[in-house]
Amino acid sequence: MNAEFGDGTRVVHAVQGGPGEPFGAQPVFASAFHLGGADTYARSGNPTWRSLESALGSLEGGECVVFPSGMAAISTLLRTVLSTGDTLVLPSDGYFLSRRFVSGMDVRIVEAPTAGPYPSFEGVRLVLLETPSNPGLDVCDIAALADAAHEAGALLAVDNTTATPLGQRPLELGADVVVASDTKAVAGHSDVLFGHVTVASPELATRLRDARTLNGAIPGPFETWLVMRGLGTLDLRLERQAKNAAVLYEALSGRVEGLRWPGAERDPAHLLAARQMRRFNGVLTFELPDAEAVEEFVERSELVSAATSFGGLHSTADRRAQWGDPVPEGLVRFSCGCEDTADLVSDVSQALGLD
Ligand SMILES: *Cc1c(COP(=O)(O)O)cnc(C)c1O
Repeated sequence: MNAEFGDGTRVVHAVQGGPGEPFGAQPVFASAFHLGGADTYARSGNPTWRSLESALGSLEGGECVVFPSGMAAISTLLRTVLSTGDTLVLPSDGYFLSRRFVSGMDVRIVEAPTAGPYPSFEGVRLVLLETPSNPGLDVCDIAALADAAHEAGALLAVDNTTATPLGQRPLELGADVVVASDTKAVAGHSDVLFGHVTVASPELATRLRDARTLNGAIPGPFETWLVMRGLGTLDLRLERQAKNAAVLYEALSGRVEGLRWPGAERDPAHLLAARQMRRFNGVLTFELPDAEAVEEFVERSELVSAATSFGGLHSTADRRAQWGDPVPEGLVRFSCGCEDTADLVSDVSQALGLD
């Protein structure tokens, strides 16, 4: 794919069928293959993975390895890169299961909030960032932290789930590794779990592929194909979701507490986000007084469902404290879907009693 093309073109044409062939990638449901070609046994590689790995890798500027979920991608990366006694820097406000996973590893964990301050990276093996962070939507300077990590001999990884491959390219900013859950906006239809790791180093890509083959937990071709299908409309969906977030931000501004959306000029993270992100998405956070207020809000809304994911076609609200995130009881991570902007904003406004 011509790298000069825009993102919309690149995701639509990520896989090119020739005359007489289907337009997009098709799922290949084989476990064993006739020997003599690229594939031998589907646990170590198959054509459906390769289509998606090449599409995501080309968007992110590295080598992509797909996994059956975001957590499979993250846990494989951590197990591959870290040895006993290593030091890992991890966001204290990032995805809660990443923190839970490392608490069971024999490594020294140093936590730092996404917005900083960060400790010295001397003696650190891996720095894992998450920007914008989930759920707080704070942002950190990937390029500056990559420089600091490399000076100390550490690797820098970025969980790019919230941003998506179209919203941010961490490898271009100096990161060594991108990890992501494609369960969210990339697949985008709330019908599949998926994840990937994209790395600059071919040697690390090989180690991750080997780890996937040995571990044996692999994505199915059907799931891989669903993600491929979702990717084709990511540009269009993000456009509507970001527009919905922008208009909703204005409608909620000054009327709810703790409103965050890095795409808004008034957001404290905006300058940095605008510098390193390529576009914004549809995820905002805000605070209602308590858990009951969140429940009432969802009940009174016609379009918003309570669900613990984000980036899908449907607008969803998630009260993060119920999952153990260290946030106020009434904090809502709100994911704008692809509904008509006027419908969504008026529905949310009436459900919050702002009319
Ligand atoms: C959802 C999520 C994950 C985990 O991904 P799964 O696909 O649910 O396993 C990891 N990181 C972030 C930032 C997420 O939002």
